[in-house]
Amino acid sequence: MPHYNWLEAINVTEDMLNKTDPRLPVIWISALDCTGCKEAFIRSSEPTTLETILNFISLEYSELLSVASGVQAEEHKEAIYEEYKGKYVLAIEGGIPGSDDFLMIAGKSVREEILTAAQNAKAVIAFGSCSAWGGIPAAGVNPTQTVDIRAIIPENVPVALVPGCPPIPEVIIGTLLHLHFHGELPELDKKLRPKVFYGTTVHMTCHRKPYFDQKLFAESYDDEGARKGYCLFKLGCKGPTAFNACESIMEERCIRAGFTCIGCSEKGFWDKGGFCGKKKRA
Ligand code: SF4
Repeated sequence: MPHYNWLEAINVTEDMLNKTDPRLPVIWISALDCTGCKEAFIRSSEPTTLETILNFISLEYSELLSVASGVQAEEHKEAIYEEYKGKYVLAIEGGIPGSDDFLMIAGKSVREEILTAAQNAKAVIAFGSCSAWGGIPAAGVNPTQTVDIRAIIPENVPVALVPGCPPIPEVIIGTLLHLHFHGELPELDKKLRPKVFYGTTVHMTCHRKPYFDQKLFAESYDDEGARKGYCLFKLGCKGPTAFNACESIMEERCIRAGFTCIGCSEKGFWDKGGFCGKKKRA
């Protein structure tokens, strides 16, 4: 069962959750994405996304989630750049296309828009494997010449990567809450991921690991071993090389549903097998 007390791990107490500090302004820009990260964002359980939006963060702009749209939304975004200079967080979802031909927002190139927003941001958070690594838009022949966020953001801007396809809802909220309550990004690893959520592999916290240790494996998705919940390593599970907190935070997750980890939080996961999950090991 998931057991990780992530709120405690980011030093957020009950008292802090009950305080009414000014909310952290967030601008969320979508590049080449599928909206899956926003879908994940709206599904946090504790605190819920609703509680987070009402009490801790102020989602000032999102093409998908803002009530306003068009000129009204764009004008509000510009006003936030000025009013909260150096105080707002820039959330980026999706890979950054190499050419303006592939994505414009309100008549401006998404690359230009991100650079403008990043200039005066307190921090930039890349949500999802597409903004963190290039992800699916950059897979294969990469027809849009997509790059990740670090390829375009100036080095002096603090950046955190929160990969996953999509990332875990509580990991999205947790990274934002750390900024809200502590005024800075959580401690990052060498790849700029919050250590508190990406410090260990899926395998090390997997509920099937006792079977792995006993060398009890499913050989196919419908054999006796699969029915008994044995380890999925021989079916190509990428849990041993995927750094993420699915097995310690999420109630419903791939391995519990009986499917192998596809390593969606790792760079190039799609080209390394993606969703086929059929690379059997001997
Ligand atoms: Fe490791 Fe995957 Fe087996 Fe879980 S199912 S113990 S992550 S190899």
